[in-house]
Amino acid sequence: MGVNLELEPFLLPGIVTDRPWVIAGPCSAESEEQVLQTAVELSKIGIRMFRAGVWKPRTRPNAFEGHGSKALPWLKKAKEETGMYMATEVANVKHVYEALKWGVDILWIGARTTANPFAVQEIADTLKGVDIPVIVKNPVSPDVELWIGAIERLNHAGIRRLAAAHRGFAKYEQSEYRNHPQWQIPIELKRRIPSIPMITDPSHICGNRKNLLEVSQRAMDLNFDGIIIESHINPEAAMSDAQQQLTPSDLKLLLSKLILRHSDVDSSISLTLEELREKIDLYDDQVMNILEKRMCIADQIGEYKKTNNVTILQTKRWDEILTKRMEQGLMKGLSEEFVTRLYEAIHQESINHQTKIMNKSNGENGNQKVEHK
Ligand code: PEP
Ligand code: MN
Repeated sequence: MGVNLELEPFLLPGIVTDRPWVIAGPCSAESEEQVLQTAVELSKIGIRMFRAGVWKPRTRPNAFEGHGSKALPWLKKAKEETGMYMATEVANVKHVYEALKWGVDILWIGARTTANPFAVQEIADTLKGVDIPVIVKNPVSPDVELWIGAIERLNHAGIRRLAAAHRGFAKYEQSEYRNHPQWQIPIELKRRIPSIPMITDPSHICGNRKNLLEVSQRAMDLNFDGIIIESHINPEAAMSDAQQQLTPSDLKLLLSKLILRHSDVDSSISLTLEELREKIDLYDDQVMNILEKRMCIADQIGEYKKTNNVTILQTKRWDEILTKRMEQGLMKGLSEEFVTRLYEAIHQESINHQTKIMNKSNGENGNQKVEHK
C-alpha cells in the first residue's frame, strides 16, 4: 500500500545530491571553537552539510543536554566562514522558532521526537508556510507506521523537501550495535514511499567507531542516498557520544573506502539477473508449497491433540525443533538469528492453526467431545 505524499527533490542551492550525500558534524555544538574548527576541517574534505545538536534529548537526566539557543550563533558563524549548510535537531516549537531565527538550513526530527505524534504535529504546524528541508529520523521503536506518520504530518503541513534518516532501533538485549539497524524497516519505508531519500546514520546505529564503515557500506549497497555521520575535531574530548565520533580525517578515509554500486541494471547483465530471479521465484514457490503442506500436518496434529485433550504447546518438542534446525542452519550458512526468527514464525503459525482447530465447535469438525480427565 503506497503513501501519497507531495515531495520535491531534497535540493539545496549549489549542492549536488548525487549519492552519497554526506551530512557530517559533531553530536553536539560544544563551544564556538569546536564548531568552527570542526566545520573548517570538514569543509576542507568536501563536506557541504554540517550537523550539530544544540538541544540534545538524553535518555537519562544529568547528561549534557546541549547548550541550547546559545549555540545557534556558532552555527551561523560556521556557515558564514565555510559556506556549509547547517542542520540541527528540533524537538519542540521553541526550537523551531530559534533555529529559523538563526538561519539554520536543514532541520531534523530526532528518534525520540518522531515517536511522539503530538510533538511532531506541533512542529509541523509551526512550519506551515516555511520552505525548509526536514530530515525525519526513525522512531526509537521499530514502528514503520509511526515513522511514516511523522513524515505525513510534515508533508501535510506543506514541507516538500523531506528525507528519512535510518538511525537504528532500541533493543533490550546486548548486541554489537547501540541501536539495532533492522534494515528491513527502512527498506519497507522505501517500498511505501519510493521517492523519499533515505540516509543512514551509522554513528547512532554503531555507538562505536569500528563498525561505521561496514554500516555505511551496507546503506550504499541498499541504494540508500547517503549518510549523516558524527565527526568531531577531538572525539575523545566530546561531551556526548565520544565513542562513535570520527575526526574529519578519519571521515575522509571512511568515505574514500565506500564502494558505490549503481542501481541501474543494464541490458548485458539483465539477462543473467532475469535468470537468477526466475530461479528465486521457483524456490519461493517451493517454499510456499512446503509451508502449506507443513501447516496441513499441523492441522492433523491439532485434531489429534484435541481428541486426546493434549495442550498445544509442547515446550520440549519446540526446543528440540529449534535446536536441531539451528544446527542444520549453521551448516547451511544460515545465521542463527535468521533460523530463530524463521522458526519462531513457523511455530507461531502452527500454533495458530492448532488453536483454530481446538476452538472449532464439535459440529464443525465432527470430533467427539472429549471429557476432561
Ligand atoms: C543525534 O543525531 O545526535 C541524536 C540524538 O540522534 P537520535 O535522535 O537518532 O538519537
Ligand atoms: Mn549523537
